[in-house]
Amino acid sequence: MSEPVLSIRNLSIDYVGQAGDFRAVRNVSFDIGPGEFFGLAGESGCGKSTIAFAISRLHRPPALIRTGSRILVGGRDVLSLDPAALRALRWREVAMVFQSAMNSLNPVLTIETQFYDVLSTHAGLSRAASRERAAEMLELVGIPADRLSAYPHQLSGGMRQRVVIAICLSLSPKLIIMDEPTTALDVVVQREILERIHRLRQKLGFSVLFITHDLALMVQVSDRIGIMLEGELVEVNEARAIYTDPRHAYTKKLWASIPRLSGGRTLGDAAR
Ligand code: ADP
Ligand code: MG
Repeated sequence: MSEPVLSIRNLSIDYVGQAGDFRAVRNVSFDIGPGEFFGLAGESGCGKSTIAFAISRLHRPPALIRTGSRILVGGRDVLSLDPAALRALRWREVAMVFQSAMNSLNPVLTIETQFYDVLSTHAGLSRAASRERAAEMLELVGIPADRLSAYPHQLSGGMRQRVVIAICLSLSPKLIIMDEPTTALDVVVQREILERIHRLRQKLGFSVLFITHDLALMVQVSDRIGIMLEGELVEVNEARAIYTDPRHAYTKKLWASIPRLSGGRTLGDAAR
């Protein structure tokens, strides 16, 4: 098997407090392969975002990664990178889209300038080269290139979120982490964005770590899914098996708490 894009081993993360340490992530291990769409599910507070931030070392005190934890991206040990290597890792190897990412666009800058900020800083592109790359990326996410001169408020929420995804993909990262990327959007737009990412992933070959509490949605887009419960990864399996043959009692309970998938929609198009 080819080398995983992401390899996490025995990851434990504490929030350090005066009243004692709270273990938010407990001994978690999993891999994501090249081009794989990996979903991480579990109810609010189970530690999903804490893992997401740790992968590109964006976690902040009081979060503390415990010794013995290992995070490898493309075979490189993220936890021992110096600041320059860490800067090179972010965006170029691992890019992250947050739930409120669409609100992280700068309201006073055009979309074109926001691409330029990233592409000049992290890839040294000229203004002209950046504009060309930005136009190409916008088209990929289904936004006409003439929107480059728009300001964020002139775009819908779904479009703004697609702009952020396009910026994240513009440096061709090997892994894109999406932490509840569509939760703030309506269901139709959510589905449209995820289907687009699914297709882009096939075309561009990046891997995805997709985080949500919406297991029904996740099963339809992921190759494999990990289920988290109170900081622990309790089950990892093919997306289809998570649905048809849940092993862990908690996974069964998660399904029982979700209304039946509405009629007509099958899993066939996603759980390949
Ligand atoms: P999820 O993304 O699955 O909802 P989080 O990773 O955000 O979960 O949080 C995991 C646990 O860590 C929760 O119990 C949360 O309260 C706790 N936590 C998150 N951030 C902090 C923080 N800055 N300080 C203390 N505890 C935190
Ligand atoms: Mg979260």
